[in-house]
Amino acid sequence: MPISISPFSIRSIRSRSTWRWLRVALLGTSFIVLVLIWGFTLHGVQRQKQLSLLNARAAQNNLSTVVAENLRQLLQDGQAYASNAADWQTRGIAQTGLNLGAQRRGDVVYNRLALFDLQGNMLYATSPSNDKQSITRFIRQQSLDEKATKPALLIAPQSPLYSQSWQVPLLFPVLTPQGRLSALLEADFDLGYLRHLYQSLDIGESGDIRIVTDAGLELARASYSGLQIAYSGPESSIPMISISHPVPDYPLSISVNQGMDDVLTGFNVGKHEQISSMLLLSAMIIGITLWASHLLYQLRAYFDDLLDSETEKQRLIEQLEGEKKRAYELAAHDHLTGLLNRRMFTEMAASHMAGARRNRHSNAILFIDLDRFKSVNDTLGHNVGDRLLQGVAHRLRDTLRESDVIARFGGDEFVLMLTTIENEADIEVIAGKLVQVLSQPYTNLDGHTVQTSPSIGIAIYPRDGSSIETLLLNADAAMYRAKNNGPGNYAFFDASIKNNSPLEFELEQRLPSAISDHELILHYQPKVELQSFRITGFEALIRWQHPQHGMIFPNTFIPIAEASGHIVNICNWVIEAACRQLNQWQAAGLTLLPVAINLSGKQLHDRKLADNIVNTLARYNVPAELLEIEVTESSLVENIEIAGAILDELVNAGIKISLDDFGTGFSSLGYIRTLPINTIKIDRAFIRDITNSHDDAVIATSTITLAHNLGMNVVAEGIETRDQLIHLKTAGCDEGQGYLFSRPVSADAACLLLQDLTRAMA
Ligand code: C2E
Ligand code: CA
Ligand code: CA
Repeated sequence: MPISISPFSIRSIRSRSTWRWLRVALLGTSFIVLVLIWGFTLHGVQRQKQLSLLNARAAQNNLSTVVAENLRQLLQDGQAYASNAADWQTRGIAQTGLNLGAQRRGDVVYNRLALFDLQGNMLYATSPSNDKQSITRFIRQQSLDEKATKPALLIAPQSPLYSQSWQVPLLFPVLTPQGRLSALLEADFDLGYLRHLYQSLDIGESGDIRIVTDAGLELARASYSGLQIAYSGPESSIPMISISHPVPDYPLSISVNQGMDDVLTGFNVGKHEQISSMLLLSAMIIGITLWASHLLYQLRAYFDDLLDSETEKQRLIEQLEGEKKRAYELAAHDHLTGLLNRRMFTEMAASHMAGARRNRHSNAILFIDLDRFKSVNDTLGHNVGDRLLQGVAHRLRDTLRESDVIARFGGDEFVLMLTTIENEADIEVIAGKLVQVLSQPYTNLDGHTVQTSPSIGIAIYPRDGSSIETLLLNADAAMYRAKNNGPGNYAFFDASIKNNSPLEFELEQRLPSAISDHELILHYQPKVELQSFRITGFEALIRWQHPQHGMIFPNTFIPIAEASGHIVNICNWVIEAACRQLNQWQAAGLTLLPVAINLSGKQLHDRKLADNIVNTLARYNVPAELLEIEVTESSLVENIEIAGAILDELVNAGIKISLDDFGTGFSSLGYIRTLPINTIKIDRAFIRDITNSHDDAVIATSTITLAHNLGMNVVAEGIETRDQLIHLKTAGCDEGQGYLFSRPVSADAACLLLQDLTRAMA
């Protein structure tokens, strides 16, 4: 199982002093444990030794007491013989001797009795003795008389003869009834008797029991090896415990001696066992300590390794974090201006868009391009260019709110995101302010003063795109639109400029000069009355004779013109051109037919449109009824009120209105009834399949019927075949337009048609 350990705990374990303390604590604890157990053990041993010694002393004391008491009784037996001989003087020696003999019979302690007077003359003896002279000598040495102090007992020196026979001659005082000392009774004490008695006593191999006189003379000693009389050899060097006890009433004492070793035998056995187990225990403790110490060492090495790798890991992580942060900052900002770069802008914008989605707000993306920046760079140098970009960044920061996101994408492209926008008017205010602020001269750019202006393209989230990529593309496209409107302009994106191809882009750029360079012309397609096949009028259709691309048809460039705003100029040119043409035909004396021109939706916003048309007609001296206006359903729907008012003005001026491309929009005839419309042009999409598609045929037929009910004229567009013509004719369609009759033709060709008509009329 892997050990999981936090760097913090490792670090605390890591410190050298921690390890030293751990080891000291371990060794100290072991040492203290050893000292304690050995202290207790030795103390216990000492106590046991003392107890053993105390016990031995007590036992020896008891023994000596018992032995002394026993000896006293034996001596009292001897004394009893002396008492019986007390009346020897009155009774006579013979009789006393007889009594003593009888009395001693069977006595195993006293082997022989003899009566001596105070002068040492032997008066009687139970048996003869070889050594009576030594007794006589001894008694005379005592210088005894009747008045002398009465000794309890006299111990005569042992003759070599006695010692061999283990007999000690004891002299008991014989007292008269009056208590005077009259004689001494020698009783030979047989120490052999004691030998039997003491044999049963356990005093160990080295121990002995001694009978000692008060004068310090040892009479006998009984030991493990037997009984020794009057021992006078060298004393054993073995340490002994000696207890001595006086024999009551007699000048003797009993000394019990026991070898220390014998006394402590049991204790020593126990002690050795205890010490052995203690040694074993100590060895175990020392072993465990050493093992634990080794383990600590290994653990320390392990933690050292662990921390080293942890530290290395931490260092690597910090290094990576640092690099990541540096890289992130480098990657997030534009080094020249300190603004965000494209990558960071995209990230932040995406997050703002997510917030906007949640809170149902709008965001605006503004794409800013500096007009004339390239020429500043080329003529004044990169330094000035860089300083100019920094100045722009500075002004952007000062002008916008904290919450807005400002970035430089490279070159002179700045991109902003205005967050939490309430309405389009707010954006216009900000865009206008930016144009004003950024158009102020930049002074002191390396000694130069530069004036530039921004072109700003605006795309709104979510209206103009749901992804940041789309919004940026659209804001960029809008920026080109703004640039085309001249320096210091801003433009909102609208769907018509989406997906501009390079050609479209080029056309858009060229459109303004197309008018001034007279590259636009009008072609005319006749409208024919289906009953008579008479030409009833022309539709003027614009063409662009491009010097490089040749003839360009309106479906290609009208949407571009509408999106870029050039459509207004173009339509004004069409009005002018159509009126001029009518004027020329009029001047040529031709019978004139009405010419219809197409108006775009944008123009129907222009309240001056009607005045403009009326003025142009007047300028070219063209009657109003010669001009017709074609408007589409969708252009009307865009701004119904203003469009309605403009149409009213036009109708009031005598101009007829046709509703173009009918069927492709959403309007119903009921709705159109409220507008001053003269003619309905059924879109050629319904005509194309009119002979095959039942649905299309029904739509066309019902439209014709309903339009007639409303008093409107009906024109069918795009009639290409005879079948279509018959079908429409049968359905009651009034007029038709299409390749079957004529393609749109040049003004000259249209002139020929008018000449034919003029001739026919003539
Ligand atoms: P529109 O108003 O519906 O014009 C009729 C279009 O149908 C013309 O295309 C014409 O050439 C074409 N056409 C006529 N007969 C047939 C036919 O039998 N078959 C087929 N396939 N097509 C036929 P054109 O000239 O390319 O114009 C296209 C559109 O451009 C016009 O559609 C109109 O909406 C717009 N447009 C043309 N001139 C002007 C203009 O001066 N101002 C404005 N604002 N729009 C114009
Ligand atoms: Ca038309
Ligand atoms: Ca049409």
